[in-house]
Amino acid sequence: MINPALTSLYILIVLFVIFYLNKDKLKEIFIKLNKYGGGKYVKICPKCGSLKIRTDFSNPVVWAYGTAVKYRCDSCGYLALIFPEVLKNEINHYKKGLKKRLEESGIKGKKEELADASTGFFVGVWEVIIFIILALIFLILLTISVYFKPSLLG
Ligand SMILES: [Zn+2]
Repeated sequence: MINPALTSLYILIVLFVIFYLNKDKLKEIFIKLNKYGGGKYVKICPKCGSLKIRTDFSNPVVWAYGTAVKYRCDSCGYLALIFPEVLKNEINHYKKGLKKRLEESGIKGKKEELADASTGFFVGVWEVIIFIILALIFLILLTISVYFKPSLLG
């Protein structure tokens, strides 16, 4: 006689192992989908946190020789070759960090900090999703087994 509760537990363990073995591959796909899923990255001013970034054509050399285009912040006038790009749903997170850094010291934020923060965020989300899926599967299997085998309760 097969114990439904035990069977569901075995299925859960097998599923978890499958997920765990393919963790890196799945994570990669997940990150790619977020990255290329419709231009979710936006340029943000590292000085004031404004999103109004324009391509600066004030330099006539750009037109004549096609040298690297500069970007200009509309709010504070900050001019740079490279502006940090942040995911749309991470703008608030970035702004918070920017404000904190400015309060602590007058030094501009490092690029490495940005990259680390975004990676950690997505790994965290991924883990939460896996946990929720596994928890749901377990609950469904448990409900089914209890429903079909009421004798288990007694
Ligand atoms: Zn600015």
